Amino acid sequence: MDVENLQRKDLEYIWHPCSQMKDYEELPPIVIESGKGVMLYDIEGKDYIDVVSSWWCNLLGHRNEILNQRLIDQLENIEHVIFSNFTHRPAIELCERLAKHLPKGLKKFNFSDNGSAAIECALKMSFQYHYQTGNKHKKKFMCLSDGYHGETIGALSVGSLDLYAKMYNPILIDTIRIEAPDCYRCPYGKDRDSCSVECFEKAEQAFKEHGDETCSIIVEPILQGAAGMKIYPAEYLSKLRKLCDEYDVLLIADEIATGFGRTGKFFAVDNAGISPDIMAISKGLTGGYMPMAITITTDEIYNAFYAEYNDQKAFMHSHTYSGNSLGCSVALGVLDILENDKTIEKAQVTAEYLHRRFCEEFLNHKNVGEIRHVGLINAIELVEDKGTKKGFDSELRVGYQIYKRALEYGLVLRPLGNVLYFNPPLIINEAEIDLAIERMKKAVGDILEF
Ligand SMILES: *Cc1c(COP(=O)(O)O)cnc(C)c1O
Repeated sequence: MDVENLQRKDLEYIWHPCSQMKDYEELPPIVIESGKGVMLYDIEGKDYIDVVSSWWCNLLGHRNEILNQRLIDQLENIEHVIFSNFTHRPAIELCERLAKHLPKGLKKFNFSDNGSAAIECALKMSFQYHYQTGNKHKKKFMCLSDGYHGETIGALSVGSLDLYAKMYNPILIDTIRIEAPDCYRCPYGKDRDSCSVECFEKAEQAFKEHGDETCSIIVEPILQGAAGMKIYPAEYLSKLRKLCDEYDVLLIADEIATGFGRTGKFFAVDNAGISPDIMAISKGLTGGYMPMAITITTDEIYNAFYAEYNDQKAFMHSHTYSGNSLGCSVALGVLDILENDKTIEKAQVTAEYLHRRFCEEFLNHKNVGEIRHVGLINAIELVEDKGTKKGFDSELRVGYQIYKRALEYGLVLRPLGNVLYFNPPLIINEAEIDLAIERMKKAVGDILEF
């Protein structure tokens, strides 16, 4: 079948994620045939650099030989088995090896199959923990404005991005929102050097008012990804840890996007040297190979559910694909690579190069308001006016125009509104960075002259 035929059939059957399907009339889906490293190839052989890691999950490049072999080997044994009352070697080994990389105290692993499910699990767990330890009045969740935690009803309820949540407001859980740090447009007029995390007073106020009725607060540590790669200081997290302890509120760290080296440390909370009470991981966990997520917690929380069966304290939460053997095996491959190749440490060196090149090529552009970066993640916030930091009218879809041009030049940018970013696989090299920047520059220049 030729490309047009495949595209026609695709549109006949498939409702693509997070898309206005009418846009596809003008930009039909690109039919990908294969991938290798940071490259994707369509069925006509055209290459695309995957600088968004296929929605942030591809950690070590496409078609990695070690990860492929892990899957092939596991298929010789078993693909999947019921995970209630049954277990298997890959799951056990994975937990034991992950534990060595986790913040202190995180010891119990509850498996699911996608990020949103891991968030639901964390929210339910935090409520039930308090319910079973004499705090039945703790029924509220807190979260930060501009947060993103997935798209199921519970996850949307603790998210704050109108783009995904607004439509469903009438059916969401009522949640307490704290104004998040906004470092580019700091309401206190500070910059990164003069900042003393003044905005933390918003959290203090919220805890004073609602701390008593709150069972948990959920945050994306360091990096609010979907909000436009907004980065905030580690000190915010260390302060939050203390505040949570003071009010007996559990701290949930959503490390789904930030885990596995994306911020330069193994986990983003490591930047603050703190341990959350509950952590959710997914995306990089399997290197982007298999849908798997884990909600990890402490002995203290686990023990609040541990009782005689008839006490009815068990955590009755399950997913069919919990503990999937193929997912666990490929996740073991990811740990092999990260441990043996020192990938995260090496990526930190590449990250310096990437940031320097981004600044050289884009910082002086009239519409580049800010380049923010952590780990290999570099994001450009496009603005209409640099002085006032006024953004473009969203109806102009400037980011989307650049995205379409970039695809023509062989680059997968997929901006967040008017924020263009790279969040590439950790194994990207300098030559690939140069090529990606060259393609991005052409695309940006076509829409917003240099
Ligand atoms: C992607 C993401 C999720 C949701 O994960 P899904 O697997 O898409 O459900 C939740 N939180 C963060 C921070 C994410 O980046």
